[in-house]
Amino acid sequence: MLCPLCKVEMRVESHTAVVGDDSPLTETQVMLVQEFFCRNPQCERYGGGCVDRVTHPVPLIRL
Ligand SMILES: [Zn+2]
Repeated sequence: MLCPLCKVEMRVESHTAVVGDDSPLTETQVMLVQEFFCRNPQCERYGGGCVDRVTHPVPLIRL
């Protein structure tokens, strides 16, 4: 993904997050969270928080 400001390819950090795991009544869903950071030191968005965030549900398999 490109920075919307300077159009340089951004750095990605990936995390996993779990939703609905607090209660047996809600379905547990694991999410892959990707956060995009600008890596252009000349850009206004550099060094700040993530510029964009994308979440994808991760399919669960039974082992
Ligand atoms: Zn930028």
